[in-house]
Amino acid sequence: MESQKPYRILLYYKYVHIEDYEAFAAEHLEFCKELGVKGRIIVAEEGINGTLSGTVEQTDAYMAELRKDPRFSDIFFKIDESEEHAFKKIFVRPKKEIVTWRFEEDVNPNEVTGKHLSPKEFYEQLQRDDVIVIDGRNDYEYEIGHFRNAIRPGVKSSREFPEWIRENLSQFKDKKVLTYCTGGIRCEKLSGFLINEGFQDVAQLEGGIVTYGKDPEVQGKLFDGKCYVFDERISVPINRTDEDVIVAKCHHCGKPEDRYVNCANPLCNIQYVCCEECEPKHKRSCSKECEEHELNRYVLEQEALKAEQGQALENAAK
Ligand SMILES: [Zn+2]
Ligand SMILES: [Zn+2]
Repeated sequence: MESQKPYRILLYYKYVHIEDYEAFAAEHLEFCKELGVKGRIIVAEEGINGTLSGTVEQTDAYMAELRKDPRFSDIFFKIDESEEHAFKKIFVRPKKEIVTWRFEEDVNPNEVTGKHLSPKEFYEQLQRDDVIVIDGRNDYEYEIGHFRNAIRPGVKSSREFPEWIRENLSQFKDKKVLTYCTGGIRCEKLSGFLINEGFQDVAQLEGGIVTYGKDPEVQGKLFDGKCYVFDERISVPINRTDEDVIVAKCHHCGKPEDRYVNCANPLCNIQYVCCEECEPKHKRSCSKECEEHELNRYVLEQEALKAEQGQALENAAK
């Protein structure tokens, strides 16, 4: 495929044993810095999980180099084109897990995991009325877009899943269960956890929502809203048919909106849905308290803008 845009965003993971992962992370950071790619990569003894951006040449070099390593020779890269970098910096962090679950009993996805379904298979299963669809992401991701019949996950982080599942889904153990997440990585262990909990029939969407949205046949059908992503784009479109809808609402006025902003109070900084009209009215703040906070960034930005304009007028008058 000829690339149209000068940059690319890569999303990838692999569960594979990495001996001495802390040293690997340090070397990998140096390699990324030299290459000039930016993003966030997590390395653990159990594998690698990354999302990064760079020019077409940089990302080509990155993929080629990683695949030279026999541990990653079959790693799959999900590629989006972009006009610019999607990150400001590069981080390569060694951690205990490449997704933080902290299950009481760890799951090795190379031993226990649900059946992988292609986008087409997943789409077919979604339409059955005897399936339970579990969104394997967090509540704020579900909010701006999800599969039509998915159960809303009442969790703020992956760590809360075991308790939420035990409290809310135990009655579905003999049902057919489908799970999905952004790029597929979270389902690798989540599906294994469900199997260990006694769920009989567990399947997961291979490559996640982003792959589903690219499938030429399925075209993102039955996905409502946008897919939350962990880079500066914040969300990407998935459904390429005219079923495309907005599922979230402006926190202030309630009109359909899927624009996430960070609350202008730097001590709050939560991401919330806010429409363009409400942004100035509420000083891009999630609450009255944040609106009136002395460090409110929106107020400071507006003051700086005014000062700049004043200076420009003065200069023009000279
Ligand atoms: Zn609004
Ligand atoms: Zn706030």
